Amino acid sequence: MIYTIERANMITDQLRRFKSGYAHHVVGQFANIDFWLNEVLEAQKTIDQYNSRFNNIRDIQKNWINSHGTKVYDYCPHCGGKCELSNGTPSPPNRISSSDMNETRRNLVNSAYYFLTRCYRMGLLNDDELKQKCDLIGTSIDPNDLKK
Ligand SMILES: [Zn+2]
Repeated sequence: MIYTIERANMITDQLRRFKSGYAHHVVGQFANIDFWLNEVLEAQKTIDQYNSRFNNIRDIQKNWINSHGTKVYDYCPHCGGKCELSNGTPSPPNRISSSDMNETRRNLVNSAYYFLTRCYRMGLLNDDELKQKCDLIGTSIDPNDLKK
């Protein structure tokens, strides 16, 4: 499981559903808008701090492997057991690509943005409130999205 991505995607999916739901459903979710925007902020933070968490994992694993002489031999189908070509040094963890991270972050912000603009068009947010909430999640407003 890729925690950072899955967490953000869960929130993205949720907000996407709000945006296209019946008006009375949107109103219901709007009652908790501050909760949802906070979820977006937390997920953004989780994404933005990923590289530093990843480096912690990589570095401490490397130190452990070096100081303990850790060897791991995966089953090799060719050798029928321990691979004769492997020196047994465990492979480092895989880093999620920054393009995957950026795309996840963009989808998250967009889904929150479309929910906010739907609320605006329904008259649940005024101009100032919309602007303030968009600033909070770090997105600008396209005037085309505000036409009622
Ligand atoms: Zn082998």
